[in-house]
Amino acid sequence: MFGRRPDRRGTDPDLTDAAGQVDGLAGDGWDEPSPGDAGASALGDPLRDALDVLDLGVAIADSDGTISFANRAAQVVLDAYDHLVLVRDLLVELLDEAAAGGSTRRTIELVGPPSVAYELTATPLRPGRVVVVIEDVTERRRVDHVRRDFVANISHEMKTPIGALGLLADTLADETDPESMRRLAGRLAGEVVRISATVDDLLELSRIEFGDEMEVDRVDLRPVLAEAVQRLASAAAGREITVDVMVSEPVHVSGDARQLASAVSNLVDNAIKYSPKGGQVRVTATRGPDRRVAVAVADDGCGIPARDLDRIFERFYRVDRARSRETGGTGLGLSIVRHIAHNHGGEVRVASREGRGSTFTIFLPALPPNEVSS
Ligand code: ADP
Repeated sequence: MFGRRPDRRGTDPDLTDAAGQVDGLAGDGWDEPSPGDAGASALGDPLRDALDVLDLGVAIADSDGTISFANRAAQVVLDAYDHLVLVRDLLVELLDEAAAGGSTRRTIELVGPPSVAYELTATPLRPGRVVVVIEDVTERRRVDHVRRDFVANISHEMKTPIGALGLLADTLADETDPESMRRLAGRLAGEVVRISATVDDLLELSRIEFGDEMEVDRVDLRPVLAEAVQRLASAAAGREITVDVMVSEPVHVSGDARQLASAVSNLVDNAIKYSPKGGQVRVTATRGPDRRVAVAVADDGCGIPARDLDRIFERFYRVDRARSRETGGTGLGLSIVRHIAHNHGGEVRVASREGRGSTFTIFLPALPPNEVSS
């Protein structure tokens, strides 16, 4: 949690005072500390050992303010000579506050990179002691942040089609001409399809992202690619686009066939959507010399501007919102692909030139040859 243990304090004279404030108080009434572990405990070895394996820092101060126990994680803070010095200062502050009154809790954020955040809670114990718990809340705050962004994005995404539904319904209610009514009803149905596609993709993304059990198996990629392409046969035919699958040798990976088919079909779907009528899409799976399998989907479509390449895998990011709306895109397809690649210990990359086309490649660890035989 708190990274490597720092060297003993005192090596940096600037920090000697702050360290001494805590250190000078140690070793009062507790067992003799083991080397490098000031503040060993009278709690008994098993309990001490248990506290030492915790990621949480736990420190106890006596009524006179001396730190009489610190588990391993708390000791890292007490010994700090780097950015954690600020955490130690806060710890000392909280000890005073808790000794004077009730429990106190404070969060401190250390600006990075990487930024980290700790939450410190000081609680009075009898008689006159204070326990401070130090928790690394960096990940929890990151997840909260992502969740908040996600909810804001979804609300924003849903607002447009739901607003359109309302307007269309109002107009339809006032309409008497059967032809206009049919047209409005058709547009209403189109918006419903859009909302439902977004909800389907969100459900798919949350299944993949928030840990629905993967069904891991030995997967032959040829039927997976064939299925993914088959799903989109009518979309391709509708735009007179040829989709060729080229796999010259059997290629196997360890993974979830359903997820892999979903990733490939998202890429093929995009290749079809962003290609001109009559275009050509090529799907290949090859074994690389680096024991990786590369599944590539290449098109000769509109391509992606270089400035957008870093962002297209973000949820709801579209290069051209109007075009994505036209093609019925949800902005979630590539996030799904990226999550699936990560779930399989792989990654997805893109090479693209505006006006020339794009190639998306999913790299996956190949199964060792001895596990390949069928
Ligand atoms: P969408 O549902 O909008 O297609 P994606 O997450 O699948 O969302 O893709 C994000 C954006 O990346 C798309 O809106 C599009 O601008 C761009 N994009 C994805 N694939 C291609 C492609 N093969 N050719 C050109 N642009 C693409």
